[in-house]
Order: sequence, then C-alpha cells, then structure tokens
Amino acid sequence: METYQKTDYRSVPLFRNVEPGDWNNWKWQLKNVIRDIPTLKKIIKIDREEESELKLCLKRFRMGITPYYASLIDPEYKRCPIRLQAVPRINELHDDTEDSDDPLGEDTDSPEPGITHRYPDRVLLLVTRVCSMYCRHCTRRRLVGDEDTHLGSVNLENCLEYIRRHKEVRDVLISGGDPLMLDDTKLETIIRQIHMIKHVEIIRLGTRTPVVMPQRITKSLVSMLKKYHPFYINTHFNHPKEITSEARKACERLADAGIPVGNQSVLLKDVNDCPSIMKKLMQGLLMIRVRPYYIYQCDLSRGISHFRTSITKGMEIIENLRGHTTGMATPTFVVDAPGGGGKIPVMPNYILAQSDRRFALRNYEGVITTYTQPEDVFSDCGQCHICDDDKYKSNDGIASLLKGDKLCLEPKNLKRRRRF
Ligand SMILES: *Cc1c(COP(=O)(O)O)cnc(C)c1O
Ligand code: SF4
Repeated sequence: METYQKTDYRSVPLFRNVEPGDWNNWKWQLKNVIRDIPTLKKIIKIDREEESELKLCLKRFRMGITPYYASLIDPEYKRCPIRLQAVPRINELHDDTEDSDDPLGEDTDSPEPGITHRYPDRVLLLVTRVCSMYCRHCTRRRLVGDEDTHLGSVNLENCLEYIRRHKEVRDVLISGGDPLMLDDTKLETIIRQIHMIKHVEIIRLGTRTPVVMPQRITKSLVSMLKKYHPFYINTHFNHPKEITSEARKACERLADAGIPVGNQSVLLKDVNDCPSIMKKLMQGLLMIRVRPYYIYQCDLSRGISHFRTSITKGMEIIENLRGHTTGMATPTFVVDAPGGGGKIPVMPNYILAQSDRRFALRNYEGVITTYTQPEDVFSDCGQCHICDDDKYKSNDGIASLLKGDKLCLEPKNLKRRRRF
C-alpha cells in the first residue's frame, strides 16, 4: 500500500525553524496565515508582473493561505494545482458576462439571515464567514473573506428558532465560511442546540480544514463531535497532491470516531479537469476512508470564470470512472442550477433505446445489452401505510406527475393560459 509522504515543511526556508509542536497546532497555523505578498514571496517564486497583478487583486479580494497548505505549493511551478487554488490571479478582476454575485440564489432562498432553505427536508446553516484558507474558486465569495466576523449570537438564535419551527427539517447542514474556524466550545454550543431539536434526525458539517489545515482535527474536537451522532462531515479535496499523511491522519481520526466523511470536489480548469487526475483523486480518497460524494460544475460566481470548464468535461470524467473503478470512487457530477434550482445530476447516457418490454443499455466497455422488463409491472400496494406519513411522500415536482396526482406542471405566467 502506498505510504503518504509527510510534508517536509522544514524544506521551506521560511518554516525551517518552526517547532513541530507549533506546526501541528492549528492555532499556530491560524496565527501565521499568509496574507501579504512579501511573506508569500519567501515561499514561492513570484515574478514582477505577477507581483503587480497580485497587488491589484488584493485590493478587491483577500488572500489567506495556511502555512501548511502553502508548504504543499511547488515553489517554481506557476501552474501548480495547489498554487492555483491559493494564490490570486489577475483573472479574478475580470467580470464575465455570465457572472453573478449570488448565482445559486442562496440569499433569495433565505428565510432568515444565516439559513438557506431550498430543499424540503434540509437546511443550510451558515455559522461563520471566516475560513482558514480562502479558496480562489470559492462560490460564496460574496460572503466569505470580506468581513472577518462569525455570525452573532442573536442571529444564530433566530436560525435555531426557524429550525425548531419547521418540523419538516430533518437534516441540518452546518456550513460557512468554515465552521471549524469556531473553537470547540462555541461549535458545541451550536451543535448541541441543533441536536436537541427532536425532528432533526441528522447533522452534517462542511469543512475544508482536513485539506487546508488538518491540524484542526484534534482528538478533543473529534470526541466532542461523536457525542452528536448521527453526525456526518463533508470535505473538499480537489487534487491528489492534497492527500498527504497529515490529511490522512485527520480523515482517519474522524472515521475512527464513527463520523462518515464524504468529499465534494469542484471541477476546476487546470487543477483537476482531467479524467486521470480525478481517478487518482477518487481512489486516493477511498484509501484515507473518505467517500467521494459530489463533483460540482464550477458555478457562475463573480471573478472565477478562469476556473470554469465545460459540463462535457465532467461527463467525460464520470465516463472514465463508472465501471472502470469501483462505484465507491464514483461521485455524482452535479450542476448547481443558477437561480436556485439546486443540484442537477448530469451523466453520460447509458440508455440506448426502449421498447414496451425491453431496454437497450450500454456499459462502460461499449457492450450493448438488453434488459427485459417484467410484464406485470404494476406495483400492488401492500397497505403498509408508510405513505400515510407526509414525510415519506413527495407531493411536488416531477415525482407528483409520476404518481398521477398532477397531469402537468406549467410556469406561473404561461402566456397560453392568459389568452382567454
Ligand atoms: C447542497 C445543498 C444542500 C445539501 O444537498 P444534499 O444533496 O442533501 O447534500 C442543502 N441545501 C443547499 C442550499 C445546498 O446547496
Ligand atoms: S473553505 Fe469553502 S467557504 Fe472557505 S473559501 Fe474555501 S470554498 Fe470558500
């Protein structure tokens, strides 16, 4: 089995004299986040032109790179995938015609500042605007990094009240910013209150710290989190280079505490828009006990157009995974619909043709096969009455068409309907 290289931070001149006790302490990492050009120049090579461009960028967007993540950057190679995710480029100042400040409509779907309630049974709860590292491709740049504040407690109380009032919310997703920027005590206060709400069945937390500051995943954090099972974590690895022995230790620690860890990658131009890189990443994640969950098409947030690539590339990546390697290493590729439609899965087409009885399907090898459907396909209701509970019925959307509850769905202002 592959052994993971410990990052040799002492090979970076700037960190040569840092004691391991400091390096492995997340508070030290935070205190030493790289925010300015002179410090950055001590770690990586930056030429004159880049430096003046960088200065322009920093006037509009903030930079923040943890020493740990900076130590993973190849100091000489401009296209280093770690560097591209951490160091601003002049393209950030470019406004593409398609760009928007809130492409996913997260503010529009927000009934309460801090809450996004888009899907019927789950909400997103933003507990901070702060991150340890400011990813250059961040979708929430409208929120993150411009203001160094955690959300105030008044605000949080309103959010909790919203969740308490909405009995249909069975799943709370704690996000930000990066929620693990809060210290354990503050975080526990929030988690405990959510855990106490009877109708909340699971709690999830999204964090990039296992990737950019694995030192944050301490023994004490993990023993706190495991009191609130079923508790899930989703993290954000984008490139195989991020899978270091430190990252591995962090993810294993979470898994050992019974916390399933999933991964959400973003498809990024010049970082991971390649089927082979993605395959290596997904297989590498399984080796550190992280289950690939989603690959996101890069959204239309302002200033990240240089990271976008085609949806077709994402489909090619899935084609290269499904069947070629385990389904465990095959995440769902999704486009988060502009305007707030939510995640829409996109994948290669495996159905070639259909008749009354038969499906013609193709597999990853190009084998074309048939599946003959049973003749008597009508489900016979077993009268189990699970459907008497509204919770398990999907009464809207396309599902309602299949059930026969509705004949069609139409836009509210359908012109044809206004003719009479
Ligand atoms: C992604 C997302 C979720 C969670 O979606 P899952 O598919 O359940 O992981 C919830 N709310 C919002 C607003 C989201 O963008
Ligand atoms: S950790 Fe997440 S919220 Fe923070 S900058 Fe990166 S992508 Fe944005």
